[in-house]
Amino acid sequence: RAKSAGGNRFERADAEADARAITRHGLTTALPAALDRGEFFIEYQPLVHLGDGTVHGAEALVRWCHPQHGVLGPDRFIPLAEHTGLIVPLGRWVLQEAVRQARFWNRSHSDGGPLRINVNLSPTQLHHPGLVADTVDVLERSGLDPGALCLEVTESALIGADEDLLKPLRQLAEMGVDIALDDFGTGYSNLANLRRLPVSVLKLDRSFTQGMQTHPVDPVDLKIVEGIVSLAHSLQLAVTVEGVETGAQAEQLRELGCDTAQGWYYARPGAPDRIHSLVLADAI
Ligand code: C2E
Ligand code: MG
Ligand code: MG
Ligand code: MG
Repeated sequence: RAKSAGGNRFERADAEADARAITRHGLTTALPAALDRGEFFIEYQPLVHLGDGTVHGAEALVRWCHPQHGVLGPDRFIPLAEHTGLIVPLGRWVLQEAVRQARFWNRSHSDGGPLRINVNLSPTQLHHPGLVADTVDVLERSGLDPGALCLEVTESALIGADEDLLKPLRQLAEMGVDIALDDFGTGYSNLANLRRLPVSVLKLDRSFTQGMQTHPVDPVDLKIVEGIVSLAHSLQLAVTVEGVETGAQAEQLRELGCDTAQGWYYARPGAPDRIHSLVLADAI
């Protein structure tokens, strides 16, 4: 009996795995036409100064409005686009669209310094020879100040990176573009290694923020975040925290010296107009 039940369970698991593979395959083959048909759109999530609640900028997060499956999050299709190389034209589209949007926000609100736009780069884009030229082109055509753009690269994409891989990022940094190390703290990178990377922002991974949710907060967790923040600041890096969901977390992270924050506590990712009204309102 147990044996046959087990057999069913495995058959069901196999069927689910098959279904997932079929969906993956279907999504992968649908990607290029989806880009042509304009099925992708971008949601923006504000980045807020922990000190005074003013909006520092926004991160562009891509979504796919699939005709059969509805709205799909990036975790469902970015890995597929990475795998097939479609991430290069898709990433270029995201960059262009997000930069255009940021230029629009900045045109109608110029006081208080430029609003920043953060755009994610995947490893394939990092390796693509056109990265610097494409970025320069997008910035020039939009008229956005390069200092208002921040490109986010995951810590894991830069682990063990050699000079060839860092060179385009260095060139972009020299133009004034900020480079952020995304999901920091998940990749076991050598902290001393940070010195040689052309990054100006550390984005502390959501897992640290989650650690701030327990009561009482584990003092060792606090020490770790405190240590990372002080190391980052001594290297002249700004610290952003991801995944802030409560006011208590925000307060704790502010006390620990983090500079900016992002998370549901402030706003979920949403339509560009929302960022516009938040900026006009001055603070969240
Ligand atoms: P990420 O860059 O680390 O982005 C942060 C993710 O955390 C986003 O998920 C965001 O919606 C989510 N998030 C924000 N605040 C909270 C919070 O308070 N609680 C929780 N639980 N989650 C929060 P999303 O939009 O699903 O994006 C997932 C990942 O997909 C991103 O992680 C990024 O690595 C990738 N991605 C998104 N857009 C792009 C893109 O245009 N290009 C590339 N290459 N990757 C992208
Ligand atoms: Mg990011
Ligand atoms: Mg992140
Ligand atoms: Mg993350």
